[in-house]
Amino acid sequence: MPSEKLSDDPTVAEMIGWIATRYRLSKADLARMFQTTQSTIHYWIKTDKISYKNLRKVRASYYYLHNRKDPHADERKCLGCGRWTPVSQFRGGKAICRSCENKKTLNHYWANRDDELKRRKAKNWYNKKSS
Ligand SMILES: [Zn+2]
Repeated sequence: MPSEKLSDDPTVAEMIGWIATRYRLSKADLARMFQTTQSTIHYWIKTDKISYKNLRKVRASYYYLHNRKDPHADERKCLGCGRWTPVSQFRGGKAICRSCENKKTLNHYWANRDDELKRRKAKNWYNKKSS
């Protein structure tokens, strides 16, 4: 059996397009399949913007119909770094992974630290001068 090379990160439009073509599904069929409305399907295809939950559904169908396992089945794409990251690395409800969250915190820390150092330097300079 020729093994068709599958992308591990197809767009929503690619996945839904493939499913619709392969199984001759109308927009109404797709809407039923993904338990949503036709205009939502249209929006996903046009913008590639989809909730994590719905992306899971679309990917599950896409890989199932290809008789493959979703290569990112236990992962979620981080909106911060864009990397597929184990679901366990996301705190509840967050769309960015822990390391991105930490980076944010760290950036905040460094930004504050710079100010702090400047303040301290100014103070030292002042103390030296006066002693
Ligand atoms: Zn990240």
